[in-house]
Order: sequence, then structure tokens, then C-alpha cells
Amino acid sequence: MQFTTVGLGTWNIEKSPKAAVAALKAGIEAGANHIDTAEMYGDGEAERLVAEAIKGVRNKVHVVSKVLPSNADYDATIAACERSLERLQTDYLDIYLLHWRNKRTPLAETFRAFEQLKKDGKIRNWGVSNFDVNDLKEALALVGEGKIVCNQVLYHVEERTVEADVLPFCRMHDITVFAYSPLGQGTLPKHKDLSAIARAHKASEAQAALAFLIHNPGVIAIPKSVDKQRAVENIEAAKLRLSEDDLHKIDAAFPLRAKRNLPTA
Ligand code: NDP
Repeated sequence: MQFTTVGLGTWNIEKSPKAAVAALKAGIEAGANHIDTAEMYGDGEAERLVAEAIKGVRNKVHVVSKVLPSNADYDATIAACERSLERLQTDYLDIYLLHWRNKRTPLAETFRAFEQLKKDGKIRNWGVSNFDVNDLKEALALVGEGKIVCNQVLYHVEERTVEADVLPFCRMHDITVFAYSPLGQGTLPKHKDLSAIARAHKASEAQAALAFLIHNPGVIAIPKSVDKQRAVENIEAAKLRLSEDDLHKIDAAFPLRAKRNLPTA
């Protein structure tokens, strides 16, 4: 089962638990086949809510969770995964990620734990998050090609830094990029520079923002919403096909070079 190009995020969903479960279920019904969560979110509460949302449909939905860097040594990774499985009421994770890198724990140790979890059937695959190209090179030097299935990174139309290096690097090494905060944490759905494009497609600004990201091969977006209608709207963005002209307009309105991390000369 492949991942749909838009999935469901869960950071902060524990603040509106009932609505969140309904929104996740609506998103799955609308066609999403994966949910992104983490032991960190609501101190495990988000994973418990995901368990409710996937009850009865586990075989149709991929579940991705993450280990905190403070739990990233060998034993703690195994134990953290087991706690996540219990909260999620499932026997396995589809992908387990290192949430971000903590230089104190050698990557080799976390990756050894991931491989053991995979051997034991507790995870199907593993990946990383918030890795830059140097981190990825180091990781690949340790485990070789084909083991790291994804890198989850900050990516939205106003924050396109990854397009300069991480995205092409990941494509070259067959690592899927999961775009987190793809709606700029809620700022993009109202953005005037997306309005005309969205209107021309009878779509919303949020859908235009998501469609821009996923038109890149090997990119998957994971917007979060605790609102049923907005969750469905986000999932339906997968059907929106932006024209070359639309893509150029978004590219011009949100230029890559304007971002603070990139040199302007
Ligand atoms: P998003 O960019 O997904 O934005 C979420 C915000 O947008 C919420 O306020 C939501 O409000 C609002 N929203 C969602 N859909 C719409 C819509 N169609 N129209 C208008 N407003 C909308 O931010 P997140 O930071 O939550 O990122 C998404 C997911 O990525 C997280 O939930 C998490 O799973 C993952 N993530 C991973 C990180 C990592 O380090 N690996 C870091 C950050 C996020 P409402 O809920 O009320 O609809």
C-alpha cells in the first residue's frame, strides 16, 4: 500500500479530543491512508486519540510515529516504541522516525534499535525527521541505501529552503519527503497570494498551498486539522492539479531566495 500524497497530522489534537477523532475519521473516509503522530504530542495523548480514530480500519491506514531524541539510545528506543504501540493499540508501526537529532546519542545506536524493531515485526520501516543534507549523508554512510524511507521536514510555500538541497538529495537517494506544517501552521489558508489561483480552481487557499508541495515527485504533505470539513478539504487537495502558470505564480509570490537561511547574493 502506497502512501497517499496528503495525510493527517496530529500535533496539538489533544486540545480538542472529540473533534480531532471525528476529523481524523473524516479524513480517512475522504481517502487519506496515513496518520502522522509522535510520542511527544500531548505526552502520548495524540497517539491515544489516533487509536480511537483507526479502530476497525487499521489495515487501511499507515501509522507513523516518532521517538524523542532523549529516548534515542538503543534500549530507550525499543521501550519508547513499545509504549507507542500500546497507546496506539496496534502491533506495529508502518514507519518509526527519529523526531530530531540529538548529537549526544550516536545515530548508529538509534538505527540499530530501529533495525531490531523491524526484525521483531514491531515496525515495518523507519526514517528520520529534521535532517539536513549533512545529517543524511552521515546516516547513509552508516546504513547504506534503501533503509531510510523518509525524512520529515518543515516545508510550505513560505518556507521553501528544503527545495535547495534536502529535496533533491532525498530524491536522488529514494527517500520520501514528508512536508510538515504544510499550511504554515494555519497562516497560509488566508494568504492573499493564493486566493486568485485557488478561486480559479474552485478550491481553497489551503488546497492550493498543499497542491504546490505535492506536485513535487516524492513529496507527501501532512496537514493537521481538528475540523471535519477542513480535514476533508485538505485530503481533497490531492486531486487539485495546478497548471504550469499557477506553479510559476506561486513560485514568484513566495520566492525561495527570500528566505532567511539562504544567501541572497
Ligand atoms: P499545519 O501547517 O498543518 O497547520 C495546522 C493549522 O492550520 C491549524 O491551526 C489548523 O486549524 C489550520 N488548518 C488546517 N487545515 C485548514 C484549512 N483547510 N483551512 C484553514 N485552516 C486550516 O501545522 P502543523 O504544525 O500542525 O503541521 C502538520 C503536522 O506535521 C503536525 O500536526 C505533525 O503531525 C507534523 N509535524 C512534525 C514536526 C516534526 O518535527 N517532525 C514538526 C511540526 C509538525 P484547525 O485544526 O482548527 O483546522
